[in-house]
Amino acid sequence: MTAKIIDGAACGREIRAQVAAETAELAAGGTVPGLAVVLVGSDPASEVYVRSKTRACHEAGMHDRLVHLPDAVSQDELFGVIDGLNADPAIHGILVQLPLPPHINPKAVLERVHPAKDVDGFHPLNVGRAFVGDPRGFVPATPAGIMELLRHERIETHGRHVVIVGRSLIVSKPLASLLMAPGPNATVTLTHRHTVDLALHTRMADILVVAVGKPGLITADMVKPGAAVFDVGTTRVPDEHHAKGYVIKGDVDFDAVAEVAGHITPVPGGVGPMTIAMLLRNTIEAAMRAHHAKTRGERRRAGV
Ligand code: NAP
Repeated sequence: MTAKIIDGAACGREIRAQVAAETAELAAGGTVPGLAVVLVGSDPASEVYVRSKTRACHEAGMHDRLVHLPDAVSQDELFGVIDGLNADPAIHGILVQLPLPPHINPKAVLERVHPAKDVDGFHPLNVGRAFVGDPRGFVPATPAGIMELLRHERIETHGRHVVIVGRSLIVSKPLASLLMAPGPNATVTLTHRHTVDLALHTRMADILVVAVGKPGLITADMVKPGAAVFDVGTTRVPDEHHAKGYVIKGDVDFDAVAEVAGHITPVPGGVGPMTIAMLLRNTIEAAMRAHHAKTRGERRRAGV
């Protein structure tokens, strides 16, 4: 194997330890960061993601609240729950687990979350802020996690060609805007289902990010020797030999691509743990902002 395996689990643990220390400091100052996760219905994969998010929150010393609503909940009822969390001073971050049942408009729901508590970074105001490089926004956790891994592994982005497979709002588009910004200074190509000759593009990548959800899509012949490969895909593939009855697969043919690439993220244990770590980081950031606003207000009222 030529590639260095990027240990996202270890990097995620480091960030979570920093967040736990900051949480303890903030709690000593009177603000315990709080994250609310809203789950609608009983999609098994969503239940697993939600549990790992609330567990990570708890382990960092944060206040976590899971609001589990039935599949049949109406959009207005869901709006009511979000409005309550928006107004709750113990909650600094809110995330609504996707996907939502078909009778609920996800765009309207994501817009209902107050931008100051939108730690997922999906509200249009935060999407715009991230795009123009305004630090008051929240960057979605998965692209933020990939940027962190690039820094951690000291992988040069300046002037390099990054090819991203996929054009989602959750991962690919925000990642493209982060990488092409002054600072990282990468040249970015976004590809999608309609891209003609995908391999032509992926073979030109110094850094290849794949966020599709199709196991085995990226084969060794599609990767430039020495490239850094980030596999975001997470697909449950049935496997009767595994206790859970399934295994999680990425989009990259890991064993073969590891013989060609310079760096590679495994699935699981690569990008996934970073997503949770960066969600916690966004939550503590939201709590710090709320804490400073509260203490500024108290000082003003006291005439200090
Ligand atoms: P998504 O909304 O599921 O969309 C998939 C993207 O892949 C679309 O842009 C689609 O193109 C493109 N695509 C589909 N088939 C393709 C093909 N043959 N060639 C090139 N592009 C193709 O994307 P997402 O939300 O970013 O999720 C992608 C994967 O990442 C999923 O497996 C998801 O579970 C996983 N994920 C993992 C994490 C993590 O923390 N590890 C976080 C988020 C997502 P069109 O737009 O043309 O349809």
